[in-house]
Amino acid sequence: MSSFLKIALRNLFKSPTTDPYPFGETFVPEGLRGKAKYNAGACIACRMCEHVCAGGAIQIREVADKSGLEFILWHNTCTFCGLCEYYCPTKAIRLTEDYHTAHRQEDKYRYVEKGFIKYVNCAGCGTPMVPISPELLQRAYEHVNKEIEMLRHLCPKCRQKRALR
Ligand code: SF4
Ligand code: SF4
Repeated sequence: MSSFLKIALRNLFKSPTTDPYPFGETFVPEGLRGKAKYNAGACIACRMCEHVCAGGAIQIREVADKSGLEFILWHNTCTFCGLCEYYCPTKAIRLTEDYHTAHRQEDKYRYVEKGFIKYVNCAGCGTPMVPISPELLQRAYEHVNKEIEMLRHLCPKCRQKRALR
């Protein structure tokens, strides 16, 4: 009994050993796969993330006025598999360490990550096209010179014409 009292008294002055979550923040293990974050500025709309998404959580579609592409990711369908990040050529989509995913059932269609890629006009023929992100150039070329930078503003057809000159 006396040993019980000793332990009880000792524990009385110790801070709690259990995690305070959800009343306080908890620790985040290194490499935790949490909520996905999208960066439209780096995206080249290759749709690889949509293709590999294990949860069918990603959709990329042209907006009604044809001014660009809308990216949408439903967090509540995401399985946190990380395939989108792994296969994205420009790392425009990443999994963060944000584990706060609790939401009301009625909010499931609002609990989304959204982005918009606005078309730009080709500098050669004016055709609307998906802008080529600097992230793609950095990945494709060791050094981005003026010529490459100029090609970035041309649509595939105009780039082809220029290459055949
Ligand atoms: S982590 Fe997996 S399930 Fe979630 S959006 Fe990316 S590919 Fe889809
Ligand atoms: S987020 Fe990445 S994989 Fe998805 S469309 Fe954009 S560039 Fe392609």
